[in-house]
Amino acid sequence: MHQELAGVYSFLPLGLRVLRKVEVIIRKHMEALGGQEILMSALEPKANWEKTGRWNTFDVLFKLPSQHGTEYALGPSHEEIVFPLAKEKIESYKDLPFSLFQIQTKFRDEPRAKSGLMRGREFGMKDLYSFHATKEDLEAFYERAKQQYLLIFKEFGLDAKVTEASGGAFSKKISHEFMVLSDAGEDNILACSSCTFAQNTEISKHKKGDDCPKCGKGKLEEKKAVEAGNIFDIGIKYSEDFDVSFSDAQGKKQFVIAGCYGIGTSRIIGTVAEVFSDDKGLVWPESVSPYDYHVVVLDGDDAGVQKQLDELLTKFKDFDVLIDDRDERAGAKFSDADLIGISKRIVVSKKTVGAGKVELKKRNEAEGTLRAVNEL
Ligand code: ATP
Ligand code: MG
Repeated sequence: MHQELAGVYSFLPLGLRVLRKVEVIIRKHMEALGGQEILMSALEPKANWEKTGRWNTFDVLFKLPSQHGTEYALGPSHEEIVFPLAKEKIESYKDLPFSLFQIQTKFRDEPRAKSGLMRGREFGMKDLYSFHATKEDLEAFYERAKQQYLLIFKEFGLDAKVTEASGGAFSKKISHEFMVLSDAGEDNILACSSCTFAQNTEISKHKKGDDCPKCGKGKLEEKKAVEAGNIFDIGIKYSEDFDVSFSDAQGKKQFVIAGCYGIGTSRIIGTVAEVFSDDKGLVWPESVSPYDYHVVVLDGDDAGVQKQLDELLTKFKDFDVLIDDRDERAGAKFSDADLIGISKRIVVSKKTVGAGKVELKKRNEAEGTLRAVNEL
């Protein structure tokens, strides 16, 4: 990453590869949920933001004056675009349900943008919006989305706690945040020592040390956490604002019931980095490692080494391989490999040629092992 301003980053070759892998995983799960991908505009009309009442209440909104006299909102979220869009596609209950998602750069004028990728002024987000005819249908989808989210975080190697938080139009008037325990987090949650119960301290009526209100067995512990994702039912708020309605089976007009579901793609990178890194550098899980293998070539001008390298690369033609063939000391190459944190390292050297094998070491293991190329 390269910092341009507080909270504003450019993605360099390795960081970009991680971001793309994060996006591919999230996209796969959103499609499994039935979501259809779109890409909405980042410039949003001021009139829509006035309609929802958020032009003056969304505290981190970037308001962008045009030299032609108009003003825009620089998209921090997309209810103001997706609801008018959905309105054009919905007439009857037969058009429902459906869900749309995008993976896009968002802009928020955050007052404190000091935690790297965790809190950007410009950052990546996947946002999905679901549209339903009935509250029951929304609730069923919401539950499926919650489970799908847990699968996503699992793929990143993250243990996310489903945490009750403020927001949500229906039933319990709560939303759910996906909290990853980390001291780098800005949120505090109360989590049960025994079951899955967790609440954001912002809304909790409990305090640490209390008995768990859900299982009664565990005690509530206070933990720092990163909000990696957030889902909530928004009911009919924006449907009313933009008159997004459908005619039901009896021909009666009803407002569309909606939910929204966010994950910070760039915040995921920061979270994974915080959770897994060690004193030598980054430790990427295989799922988002910028390359599958980091091949460290030592004694590169040796013909035997070149032959073994060629054999390896032929074998690995379907993998993403980063080759360090620089004219550098072995120690410098190994410490760079640790710093970059690619999940698997392979050493090709005179020594490995002598053994007729290559050395494979996972970034999260202390020792490597010699393996025949055919075994890899
Ligand atoms: P926070 O409470 O951390 O400010 P939020 O509740 O405003 O976030 P949402 O509007 O629900 O966030 O956005 C969905 C997701 O986008 C969040 O769960 C988070 O992962 C990510 N996100 C939100 N704001 C930022 C930011 N400034 N930088 C990076 N990621 C962010
Ligand atoms: Mg939040």
